[in-house]
Amino acid sequence: MNGLELIKGLGITFKHLLDTYIQDIKSGKKRYYTPEGIAERSSVDAKGIFTIQYPEEKLPVPEEFRYIPFLVYDNNEDGSKRPRCTSCGICAKVCPPQCIWIIRKTDPNTGRPVPQPAEFFIDVDICMNCGFCAEYCPFDAIKMDHDYEISSYDRIADNIYSINKLLKPASYYAKIRPVNYELEEKLKIAEAEAKAQKKLQGS
Ligand code: SF4
Ligand code: SF4
Repeated sequence: MNGLELIKGLGITFKHLLDTYIQDIKSGKKRYYTPEGIAERSSVDAKGIFTIQYPEEKLPVPEEFRYIPFLVYDNNEDGSKRPRCTSCGICAKVCPPQCIWIIRKTDPNTGRPVPQPAEFFIDVDICMNCGFCAEYCPFDAIKMDHDYEISSYDRIADNIYSINKLLKPASYYAKIRPVNYELEEKLKIAEAEAKAQKKLQGS
């Protein structure tokens, strides 16, 4: 009985081997190192080899894939960065492993707090990629990144991300999460219109 199962297994392996060569001949060089080839080998209809030659080939990640958070900034008219973060601290409070630290800016003349971060740190070795920070941020200022290639040799120097490393443009966010970005922008426009309408009615 066991011998029969072994022969069946070997038959499946041999079929995969044959299918690989047949598919290679049918599709030519397009089957490897091309987006179409990767899509074909990772589809449910894949025949023959379906493994990926990482790191030369990479599987595309879905929009909702989440790894390390990043901070979103918009651009001022002069091209300078305008981080969306107001240093409200909500993300740091909801973060389950408490791996976010924020230092709020202060006005150098009055010493009063300014709603901007002077520093923002995330310990990416402690981050559990839950996405709570992004879910709870009321300003769409922190989002989950797709970049998963972050290995390094120095934990302290490389894995405690500072604000400079965390800040990425809104255009990057739009590129990796187009559906979410579009929905949020539509919502912002609708909210601004409703606010303007209310103001008109009140005047
Ligand atoms: S990222 Fe969002 S939730 Fe976190 S401090 Fe900044 S504005 Fe507040
Ligand atoms: S993804 Fe989760 S663990 Fe990581 S910083 Fe955000 S809230 Fe904290």
